[in-house]
Amino acid sequence: VDALSRLPNRRALDEALSRMSGTFAIAMIDIDHFKQFNDTHGHDAGDKVLYAVAQQLRQTSGARAFRYGGEEFCLVFPGWRARDAEGACEETRKRVESTRVRIRSAPAKRRQGQAVRKIDAADVHVTISIGIAMRDARSETVGEVLKTADQALYRAKSKGRNRVVSK
Ligand code: GH3
Ligand code: MG
Ligand code: MG
Repeated sequence: VDALSRLPNRRALDEALSRMSGTFAIAMIDIDHFKQFNDTHGHDAGDKVLYAVAQQLRQTSGARAFRYGGEEFCLVFPGWRARDAEGACEETRKRVESTRVRIRSAPAKRRQGQAVRKIDAADVHVTISIGIAMRDARSETVGEVLKTADQALYRAKSKGRNRVVSK
């Protein structure tokens, strides 16, 4: 289990996938413009948002959520087809978009001798992009399905982010 997100980690994902047979869908998720978010609000605020995103992913119907690495996550839908996973992912995408996270706003630079400013709170949010692929009866390897999901994620990014793209 990954300590920050409390989700099962990459190794748990590899193990789960190696035991998978038959039809399943996989969604790759990546937080949009997260580098910019960290630059603006700080790394601690980034960690808090990452945790909040993970808790929303956890609630995706039909799926098991994993932290793939960094600000990337994976949803595995055992027995699901891509079209059904698409609907579930779209619901999660919307929930993340409307989730507000309370952070301590970045303290303004202080000149010497100036009084310490009260720390302000701010409510922030992020969006996610999602790429989906599935394996049906065909003899595709898990690695190939992951790669296809990753290509779909790339298309979601280039189409403008904050969206779900299948296959
Ligand atoms: P894009 O919309 O194309 O995904 O842009 P991006 O900025 O999210 O993509 P990029 O891969 O350039 O940046 C990923 C950022 O995620 C950079 C890294 O600092 C941040 N990140 C990765 N893991 C963590 C983490 O555990 N905590 C925090 N706070 N930031 C993280
Ligand atoms: Mg990334
Ligand atoms: Mg990103």
